Amino acid sequence: MTINETRAAGTGTADAVRLRSVRRVYGAGEGAVTALDGVTLGFPAGVFSAVMGPSGSGKSTLLHCAAGLERPTAGTVTVADTELGALDERALTLLRRDRIGFVFQSFNLVPALTAEQNVALPLRLAGLRPDRDRVRQGLAEVGLADRAGHRPSELSGGQQQRVAIARALVTGPAVLFADEPTGALDSAASREVLALLRRAVDRHGRTVVMVTHDPVAAGYADRVVFLRDGRVAEVAEYLDARGVAERLARLEG
Ligand code: ADP
Repeated sequence: MTINETRAAGTGTADAVRLRSVRRVYGAGEGAVTALDGVTLGFPAGVFSAVMGPSGSGKSTLLHCAAGLERPTAGTVTVADTELGALDERALTLLRRDRIGFVFQSFNLVPALTAEQNVALPLRLAGLRPDRDRVRQGLAEVGLADRAGHRPSELSGGQQQRVAIARALVTGPAVLFADEPTGALDSAASREVLALLRRAVDRHGRTVVMVTHDPVAAGYADRVVFLRDGRVAEVAEYLDARGVAERLARLEG
């Protein structure tokens, strides 16, 4: 069954994130750049989606608009049934904190904190007293139960990214956005990180949206959105790395 059929059959759920006619223009007048040129797209809940496209096709801009880090010039973005454009800055910050997880290429862990403290951080920021079992469980899920007391500098890049994933998931976000999560990792560490994202979706029903330029990484996704010149060129399901690479070559050609 394809993802659309699953949804039509009522076994899937709604979109965790929805963009409707989203435009994002940088600058004005002669020098204006249209980074997104009318994108209408859903990211289904419980699905691992990848966003691909040539350099400059609008991937980062799409991720930033979808995650409420940037406001579109026109169009609407809805996350977990909340329209972001209707929120003021404070409400948007709270929504990002409570409903959205982020993983970046550069890990972005707090150097002075242990792995366990890094994972507990989003709970603390939300004013909750971190539940130690929940935090430990999160670290165990990423295979790092025995590294709870280590600081980022005492961990490999792959291990740091796994801590970042545990941190991003600890609040139970409606969606996890990953921006080139394997960009700074060797291929073995990349595989571990991608397998973890895959498992988060398969075992725990999480929703992942990953921007990548790596066809191998996109091959882990259920669904790949291809952008070109700020528009959706194609959405394909269940491609392997070779299928992704072929389509990308066509877009770049
Ligand atoms: P990608 O992630 O696919 O490489 P981006 O979303 O970064 O693409 O960029 C899409 C287009 O928007 C590019 O032409 C880029 O130069 C332009 N762009 C992105 N961010 C800015 C910005 N802050 N100011 C001006 N132009 C930008």
